[in-house]
Amino acid sequence: MSRASPRYDRRVRLYDTYTRGLVELPPPPGPIGMYFCGPTVYQRIHVGNAIPFVLPLWLKRWLELDGYQTKLVINITDINDKIYDAAPGASAKLSTDATAWYIEDTGLLGLGRPDVEPTAVETVPDQIRTISALVDAGHAYESDGDVYYRVGSFPEYGRLSGQNPDQVEEQEPNARKEDPRDFALWKANKPTEDTWWDSPWGRGRPGWHIECSVMAEKHLGPEFEIHGGGLDLVFPHHENELAQSRALGHGFAHIWTHNGLLRFGGEKMSKSVGNVVSLREALDRWGREALLVFFLSGHWRKPLDYTDETMAAARAQWTDFVASVYDPSEERPARGWEALAEALEDDFNTPEALAILHEWRAAGQLELMKRGLSVFGLEIERVEPPAEVNVFKEARDAARAERNFEAADDNRARIEEHGWTVRDRPDGSVLVPKP
Ligand SMILES: [Zn+2]
Repeated sequence: MSRASPRYDRRVRLYDTYTRGLVELPPPPGPIGMYFCGPTVYQRIHVGNAIPFVLPLWLKRWLELDGYQTKLVINITDINDKIYDAAPGASAKLSTDATAWYIEDTGLLGLGRPDVEPTAVETVPDQIRTISALVDAGHAYESDGDVYYRVGSFPEYGRLSGQNPDQVEEQEPNARKEDPRDFALWKANKPTEDTWWDSPWGRGRPGWHIECSVMAEKHLGPEFEIHGGGLDLVFPHHENELAQSRALGHGFAHIWTHNGLLRFGGEKMSKSVGNVVSLREALDRWGREALLVFFLSGHWRKPLDYTDETMAAARAQWTDFVASVYDPSEERPARGWEALAEALEDDFNTPEALAILHEWRAAGQLELMKRGLSVFGLEIERVEPPAEVNVFKEARDAARAERNFEAADDNRARIEEHGWTVRDRPDGSVLVPKP
């Protein structure tokens, strides 16, 4: 069967940090391998950590509708300094618990799960093999039970993060390195670390960067389309991943997508500032739909501001979409599905997509609106009001007809007590679920 269709005259384009420009994906069906850096599991994830989960799942849904085959890998970092620091002597228990919280909380977003969610722990033997290959090739060296990557051996180092290779920032200074730019691939066991693995260099554990290079290649092969993560991961994490994999002659990712970070009233959300809101708290307070509309409202490359005002605005938008199914606008001509496709093909422009969804809502184009919302995991199922609410509505209509506004208000209050609200239209009143 031919795939020729006018819509494939255009291609999906995404902004790539490495080339600092838009890069086209190959034509459908791809395949499109995607690796996004997942959480370090030592606490409940904060609402900003949900962005590199939501974005790739949306992208996957959209690409599949566009005729692509995709494979999405989001890892779980369960060996890391932060976990040892957060639970001295009990790091394995903490990482197991925090992994369960992460699966539970992201599950509540209702977007399904990535195809593979590998953990660092299950990939340690693969990591040891890759580190050995880097040592054999002269790109790494052992020093007192640690193994370091030799940055000077990889001339492209610094290119992803836009640094001159000779003036790269020093990483985790220590005297065991040949060069202050070098970074650890393997760290010898310390008395404060309660988990370790045997290796050709003695007991120890892998560094964070090699974990991701190896998990990505294990599940997507040595070359794949998209590698994503938060903007704060460009350096050193992704610069180091790239250096490790390319030094072995692997193509690794073609496109590097870095999402903007969540801000909290203009400030960075972080544990040290003390303004962290967990994903779970955000879901409990606002609901999954408002949160997803909030994420849609910002371009993935830009910072997004989480405040009571921006969340209330997102919830109001969702309320408008729901109400339109009960109280639709009069049908008018509007742009077609192609408009949404164009917005998403152009660097996955979700604010533009959201504007189109509202355009369809306002034009009474409910089938297009519902189909568009479902791309982002937003479904509106029309439910019928309970019989007693209909009784109050009829009583209110009758009271209004008699200009008995006191009785009308009384019945409105009863309708609202039952979780519904009444809206007046030129052709009579309608019931709409209360937000
Ligand atoms: Zn990573």
